[in-house]
Amino acid sequence: MGGAAVIDGKAFAAGLRERVAAATAAFTAKAGRAPGLAVVLVGDDPASQVYVRSKGKATAAAGMAGFEHRLPADVGQDALLDLVRALNADEAVDGILVQLPLPRHIDENAVIAAIDPDKDVDGFHPVNAGRLASGLDGFVPCTPLGCLMLLRDRLGDLAGRDAVVIGRSNIVGKPMAQLLLKDSCTVTVAHSRTHDLPALVRRADIVVAAVGRPEMVKGDWLKPGATVIDVGINRVEGGLVGDVDFADAATVAGAITPVPGGVGPMTIAVLLRNTLVAAHRRAGLPYEMDAL
Ligand code: NAP
Repeated sequence: MGGAAVIDGKAFAAGLRERVAAATAAFTAKAGRAPGLAVVLVGDDPASQVYVRSKGKATAAAGMAGFEHRLPADVGQDALLDLVRALNADEAVDGILVQLPLPRHIDENAVIAAIDPDKDVDGFHPVNAGRLASGLDGFVPCTPLGCLMLLRDRLGDLAGRDAVVIGRSNIVGKPMAQLLLKDSCTVTVAHSRTHDLPALVRRADIVVAAVGRPEMVKGDWLKPGATVIDVGINRVEGGLVGDVDFADAATVAGAITPVPGGVGPMTIAVLLRNTLVAAHRRAGLPYEMDAL
């Protein structure tokens, strides 16, 4: 193990959840109702069940109202769309999250597009992707927003820093790149067709790895002192590992997130934060915490 500081996402997320809980109590007192988060789970994928359960627990712990909707794996797309429309119209619901992946017979894009963009606390709706790209207020996907919070906390002002994002998914890579650009980083987005990835990564002050390949990023890919955010969650024999070879990278990096305990815990904390923001916007109340 080298000299890199370990970025404690678990502790940061716990602090964020405490701040959200305090602001939720204040919202509930003012608005006369708690912020509401509806979570829709289709089918019985074990990983999705675990995520939905922990989202439900975190919602209750923050003092929010949770509405869980479980549909069978063979539910028709129309029935799912009807549920989404009912949640759009439900005054008690501020945020709607449809747990992905959906069964193959359902068009994920059609379901995401049916969610009211102002209740889209996952930030996956094309309107919110467009708002992010255009610098307008909207909802930003939880995992990259959590990464940005960790980076700002560690580095302060990000302006002028060279950032490389490895991965270009709509859920992580692309919104991460947009957020870093908004914070005035010089951003490069790498993907599976990128030539000489190690040389590219070696230029970066900030590296965000969101690939899904166990321990791909090595220590000798890094600029000494770089800040490394590892989004990867890969199940291998012996447990969970990230997309970065932690022990090797920690000998070169200035700071690095561990897996688990780095980016992972941030996702649900930011989901609660987004739900609280949605509740304030819908109620016409000002909200300043962690403003973006
Ligand atoms: P994804 O949709 O599979 O995207 C992976 C990206 O990595 C793609 O853009 C792909 O390039 C790129 N890639 C694949 N092989 C590569 C290579 N050899 N070199 C460079 N780039 C390569 O995955 P995702 O949803 O973004 O998730 C990425 C990782 O983050 C996964 O391990 C996932 O489990 C984890 N994750 C964690 C959280 C959390 O912590 N809460 C949330 C979401 C995701 P192409 O576009 O060219 O195919």
